[in-house]
Amino acid sequence: FENDTKHVIPDTSEATFGDIKYVNERISPLLKDLTEKSDYMRFYRLNLFNKECKYKMDDNVFCGSNACNVVITEESSVPEIWSSKSLGKLEGFMPELSRQIVESDQSVMENVDKISQSCLLERLDDQDRQYCYVDNELDSGCVYISLLDNPERFTGYAAPHATRIWEMIYNECLPDESEPTIDFPSLFLQGSLAPPPHSQEKIWNERMDMWSIEQRVFYRVLSGMHSSISTHLCYNYLNQSTGVWGPNLNCFMEKVLSHPERLENLYFAYSLLLRAMDKMNGHLDTLTFCHDSALQDTEVRHKIRDLVEMVDRHPRYFDESVLFTGEPVLSSAMKKEFREHFRTVSALMDCVGCERCRLWGKIQTNGFGTALKILFEVPDVENEIDQFETTSTPLQLRRSEIVALVNTFDRLSRSINYIQKFHELYVGQHQPE
Ligand code: FAD
Repeated sequence: FENDTKHVIPDTSEATFGDIKYVNERISPLLKDLTEKSDYMRFYRLNLFNKECKYKMDDNVFCGSNACNVVITEESSVPEIWSSKSLGKLEGFMPELSRQIVESDQSVMENVDKISQSCLLERLDDQDRQYCYVDNELDSGCVYISLLDNPERFTGYAAPHATRIWEMIYNECLPDESEPTIDFPSLFLQGSLAPPPHSQEKIWNERMDMWSIEQRVFYRVLSGMHSSISTHLCYNYLNQSTGVWGPNLNCFMEKVLSHPERLENLYFAYSLLLRAMDKMNGHLDTLTFCHDSALQDTEVRHKIRDLVEMVDRHPRYFDESVLFTGEPVLSSAMKKEFREHFRTVSALMDCVGCERCRLWGKIQTNGFGTALKILFEVPDVENEIDQFETTSTPLQLRRSEIVALVNTFDRLSRSINYIQKFHELYVGQHQPE
């Protein structure tokens, strides 16, 4: 807290906590406005209740508390263009074919002509660039959730089930020290999802300088997301004896502050999202915002443009060009591995035993997955050298990816604000009489 202008965040270009706080003070009002005042950012469509967990869990303890529940939004409350009826007219992964189907049905053309297939499904040639398994919005198991009606907060979901999921997530980061390298240096542990012992976090932090930059980035993103989730649940905490919701400083000290590297990773994850937003600059004109009225489409586009331009005014603290820089064949294999492990993390979200936590876990893994896609798969239009030999396909994002990215950035932004509020609480409690 005290030296926040001196504390440099590892694996960034010398960004300090103070730098991030300064940028966030300018950005957080724009994010708040976007996420709270537009239907576009508020309604998220996903398969929250009907997807099976693909991994073996020893226990099946699910969160029974009311705070874990999610309120579903009735379809009549979402704009007509996003209703299942309209979405059901779009099928398959071939934009041209679907376009023909849609165009042949005049009854839905009124709505559907404003929405492009790219709002819902990635293009065929885009599927290899995905860092997440994103739910297919045409799936009948999908529902709309208003994110404002279901805030991220304390739910009571805890060990052993919750902790086991975190262990499985971190297991995706563990460098493989046991198996000899054959073809190329494996980035991560292969195969087994057996959880490492708890004490691994400490050992990993001690050994982190022996890891490659790619391994560190992978780990820091997940640890930063975990710190942000912990910050939210401690800030929006239910005092079970009084029934009052409010910040719980001890919870924050225990889960985040007493582990400086967890705090650093939260700031790191913020700088990575900041850079991904910055890189969207120059791609905005090619994105479709999929709204039901031209007016609202323009409004969302303008608000996102304001946000991206504000981000662009600040220095770049995360530099993606220092990753995957080796010999092209090896780098591309490493990137593939990075993607696959991140996809596994996204699939693990279906194993989270608390609906509310699963909702925000799915949004945030999708948000970070979208940021990674922008960073590592899309050419930097402001930089003539395309260091990743990305495809020439312009940036294509589905509506759910844009919504997840902006809401995830908003989550991290609020966490940075909450840290400041916790600081004030701490100072208040430790004032001399
Ligand atoms: P946990 O947070 O469960 O951590 C497990 C272990 O991971 C720790 O013992 C430590 O070794 C390591 N660890 C902890 N933090 C970090 C970090 N930042 N970086 C690296 N390693 C770390 N609960 C809610 O109340 N509301 C929510 O919205 C919510 N969302 C969740 C979303 C997901 C995807 C998951 C898996 C859980 C969620 N939970 C939520 C549960 C919550 O995250 C904790 O698991 C729970 O509060 C128990 O916390 P804990 O202090 O025992 O350790």
